[in-house]
Amino acid sequence: MLTTFFRIFAALAIVALDSSAAQGQQIKVTLLGTGCPPAVMNRFGPSTLVEAGNQKFVFDAGRGALQRLTQLGVRWQDVQGVFLTHLHSDHVVGFPDLWLTGWLIVPGRSVPLPVWGPSGTSRMMAHLEQAYEYDIRVRLANDRAAADGVKLLPHDIGEEIAYDRGGVKITAFEVDHAPVKPALGYRIDYAGRSVVLSGDTRLSENLIRRAQGVDLLVHEVFVPETLQRAGVPPERAKNIVDYHLTPEQAGEVFTRAKPKLAVYSHICMPTALEQDLLIPTRKTYSGPLELGEDLMAIEVADKVSVRRPARSSP
Ligand SMILES: [Zn+2]
Repeated sequence: MLTTFFRIFAALAIVALDSSAAQGQQIKVTLLGTGCPPAVMNRFGPSTLVEAGNQKFVFDAGRGALQRLTQLGVRWQDVQGVFLTHLHSDHVVGFPDLWLTGWLIVPGRSVPLPVWGPSGTSRMMAHLEQAYEYDIRVRLANDRAAADGVKLLPHDIGEEIAYDRGGVKITAFEVDHAPVKPALGYRIDYAGRSVVLSGDTRLSENLIRRAQGVDLLVHEVFVPETLQRAGVPPERAKNIVDYHLTPEQAGEVFTRAKPKLAVYSHICMPTALEQDLLIPTRKTYSGPLELGEDLMAIEVADKVSVRRPARSSP
């Protein structure tokens, strides 16, 4: 029953897409990776592409982000910058690939890359430059890669407007992923449209406030039963579940924030089934909801519309 409802909503959403092609006045969000730490083929690591006007940004850089961008035909040199929600490895392991391969492969990046993230981001970027110093040196000398294209411009940010250019405003706000502290969510505003990305968080009052009435809320979710099924010892599972959000709790967040559309991404464990997510969510939320999948695109225009990839990726 719930599954049927979900499918009908998805079908309607696709119809809406075709009538809302107001190019330039919309935000387009593409889920590059909807998974979490376990390495599975159908859900790459957490990463999201946001396009607003002619600007492009990548939020988090999990495993496979460069492959997904390449599948979309998005050129790395056309990405304005990278925003990190927090420094857990599943959110950043794809970064060196984006940064270095995206620089090397012709036509590679030729301008420096701004990177915004919570306290510790600048330190991580400096360490990465040190770790890859040998490669950078030989690529510059032998492969003649553009010198500016490998430069990183890191910014450690807190609750603030991190970016405001060409009508695109990106605001960072704190979420609650303690003991990972600080952890950030992001709100993107453009042409009267609004998108909130949760990053990793347990139920966050600050997020509910920042996401009030937003067009699109992309939220993480964690299904405790999937840890049991994976054989994770209960004492370890408790700590993991505790700093994430269960589907029932996510439903509460959606009910209170009232987004035009709620979308699950960072689906953990990535083995979670549709019924694991949707049935408990529907106990606390009856509004529009989509279960994210890699390469799913959401267009935020007069209507919020969803287009799923033609078949399961990769
Ligand atoms: Zn995390």
